Formats: sequence, structure tokens, C-alpha cells
Amino acid sequence: MSKEELNCSFCGRSKPETQLLIAGLDAHICDKCILQAHGIVKEEISEKKSDDSFSIELHPPKKIKAFLDQYVIGQESAKKILSVAVYNHYKRINQNRIKSDVEIQKSNVILVGQTGTGKTLLAQTISKLLKVPLAIVDATVLTEAGYVGEDVETILTRLLQSADYNLDLAQNGIVFIDEIDKIARKGDNPSITRDVSGEGVQQALLKLLEGTIVNVPPKGGRKHPDQKFIEVDTSNILFIAGGAFDGIDKTINKRLNLQAIGYNTNKELKKVDSENILQYITPRDIKSFGLIPEIIGRLPVLTYMNPLDRETLSTILTTPKNALIKQYVQLFEMDGIDLTFTQGALSFIVDKALEYKLGARGLRSLCEAVLNDAMFELPESETNTLKVTKTYAEQKLSNADLPALKVVS
Ligand code: ADP
Repeated sequence: MSKEELNCSFCGRSKPETQLLIAGLDAHICDKCILQAHGIVKEEISEKKSDDSFSIELHPPKKIKAFLDQYVIGQESAKKILSVAVYNHYKRINQNRIKSDVEIQKSNVILVGQTGTGKTLLAQTISKLLKVPLAIVDATVLTEAGYVGEDVETILTRLLQSADYNLDLAQNGIVFIDEIDKIARKGDNPSITRDVSGEGVQQALLKLLEGTIVNVPPKGGRKHPDQKFIEVDTSNILFIAGGAFDGIDKTINKRLNLQAIGYNTNKELKKVDSENILQYITPRDIKSFGLIPEIIGRLPVLTYMNPLDRETLSTILTTPKNALIKQYVQLFEMDGIDLTFTQGALSFIVDKALEYKLGARGLRSLCEAVLNDAMFELPESETNTLKVTKTYAEQKLSNADLPALKVVS
């Protein structure tokens, strides 16, 4: 048979009518039939799978931490605490299938730390390891039902979307609620300037965090009033909340000072590390900040992120599996360009990131600014090497318009 005469053994399309024709022993299959068959297989399998058959591979805490280490630099304490929380969470899910009198409570987590220190990255990395869907939501867009903004149920819409509407997967997924501090009760914290009906949203979140069945509009919002709701059980969803809690260091300091003049001074209080006050955070501090006790109770695992120092930022830039510099080198390599950075250039970028106080997030914007001209000019040029020196980086940065950095600096 000549090439042109080959047909798909399923639909009969000739080779020129297909994008791809794969040969088997005595038959061929085209790309369209493969896609169709894949859809059927997916549907059949998800229909057959009942709740009970769904399981997530249980990774012991040390394994989880080792995986996190590949992507998240530093943050030892947060990684350890999170690894245990995740392990216990999925142990709890497995226990639910065995009948037992002891009810293990959820180990939802609250991560406190400045912006750009890796809170979202931690949640993303956990979801990557466990191969469970992740929804990242911003608490500031949530409002009480009936107000302008998003109802809390839309959190679950996002999770469903991220799970490709596989209900089992969504019900065992992870929700990362960013900026949880911004729904603190207004009045308790002077730095909150915008009320997003804080306490109402906290109340609405309670049930979700604890575990309940929610009717979720699959397409979200109120724009599709006719859609059929999907019942989502949140009992096995792991919630990780993150926030900067600006100004909470003062509360912690005050508490530590009060303790220092109290009766338990000598033994219990070690020397306070004033550079990193967040490490002493307790649920009480979060409460003084304006989260209601019920919410705090449902986020029982509390941990903190360290501010990123020069050394950590420098490592983040070059070392993790998907370090920024590695990403740019690869992008340039795709155009046949050998991209290198001098140590001076790397230090310069780190210095600037420290200056802008954007954590590791600043690194990305800075690299973009430094490399943008080259990424625009070089692909169609004769050039096949680019060595970024400190002078090059300085010059590109002084010309660059950095709105993202300027706003915050
Ligand atoms: P946050 O949620 O704390 O504001 P993110 O997790 O979104 O911060 O971090 C922003 C970016 O900075 C991430 O995409 C990641 O590339 C980088 N980053 C932040 N912290 C770390 C870290 N500890 N290790 C490696 N990369 C980090």
C-alpha cells in the first residue's frame, strides 16, 4: 500500500484527511478517533469510579518535604508543618473510608508571611505532588451572598473547573485562599482601608472550611441563572489560607514584651529574634488582627513564612527546579541563543528585588525588564550569545518602565 492509500481503520478517513495516522499491527487510527476514544474512556472511567474507589497516594511527611525542597527555597518551618498537615489530611480522608469512632478533624492551614515569600508556591507544589486540583482564590473578591462581588461558593466553581469537572477529584482537591487577612473585621485593624464585608465573608466561609455540602453553580457567578447546580462535599477539601497580616508584628511584639515582664520570664522565653517576629505568631495574634475565633478554629495549623534575605533570593533566582534564570536560558535556547549571566548581574538583580520589597515576585519583573529588549530583538537576528553583565542589567533597568515595581516601591 502506498502512503496515500492508508486509511483510519475506525472512521475510514484517508491519510491526507487526518493530521496524524498511527499504525498498529494490522490497523491504523487517526488523531480524531484517538481524541474521541480518549473522551469515551475518560467518561466511562469517571462514571465507574465511586467515591470509595477514589484514593490519593499517601506520601509520608519527609517525602512531601523533600518534594517541596525542590521548588521552594528556605521556609523550613512552614514546609515541615505543611508536610505534616497534608499527610494528616490525606490520612484522615483514608480513615473516613474505614469505620472508626475517632473522628480526625481537618487540618486546614493558615500561612502568615509577606507577599512573594512562597505561600502560593507551597500550595501549588503540594497540588503538583499529589496530582490533585488546586483553586487559588483571592479573599478580597468574596462578599456575602447578595452583594456585589463573588459568593463564597465560586471558590468551589474554580476548583471544579481546575478538576475539569471531575467531582471526585475536586472533592479531594486543595483551595488556596489568598489575602485572608483582608477580610479581617474592620475596626480591629487600622491598616484595612476597604471593607469587603469582612465578617460576613468569614461567616460564609466557616461551613466550607469545616466540611459541608454546597450547591455549586458550575459556571460560577450569577450570569448563568439557568445552570444546574452541582453538589460538592467540602469535607475532604484541604484549605490553605495565606495572608501578609501587615502590622501583626506589633501585636506579637507587644505580647512578647508583656510576657517578658510577666512572671514566666526566666525559663520559657528564649531570646527574641527581632528580625523575624512572625515566628512567634499564635492564634491569639490572628484573633486580635480581626479574624473571628470560629475561622481560626477551622484553620488549626498555623505557620509563618520567613522574609527572604539576600542569600535566599539569590538561590531562588538560580537554583530551584524551575528557577527563573533556568527558564530564561531555556527560552533563549529555543531561539538558538546562549544566555549567560555574570555573578555581578545576578547580585544586582537581587539587590534591586530587596530594594523594591516585593519578595521573590520582584525578581520576575526585574528579569523581564532586563531581558525584554533582547527577547524582542534577538529572535530574528544573527546573534547567538547574550552575556548579561551588571552594566547591561543596570542600563536596561534604567530605561525600563517598571509600573509594577513602581507602584509598590
Ligand atoms: P506569595 O503567595 O507568598 O505572595 P508566591 O508564592 O506567589 O508568593 O511567590 C511569587 C513567586 O516568587 C513564585 O512564583 C516563585 O517563583 C517565587 N518564590 C517566592 N518564594 C519562593 C521560595 N521560597 N522559593 C522559591 N521561589 C519562591
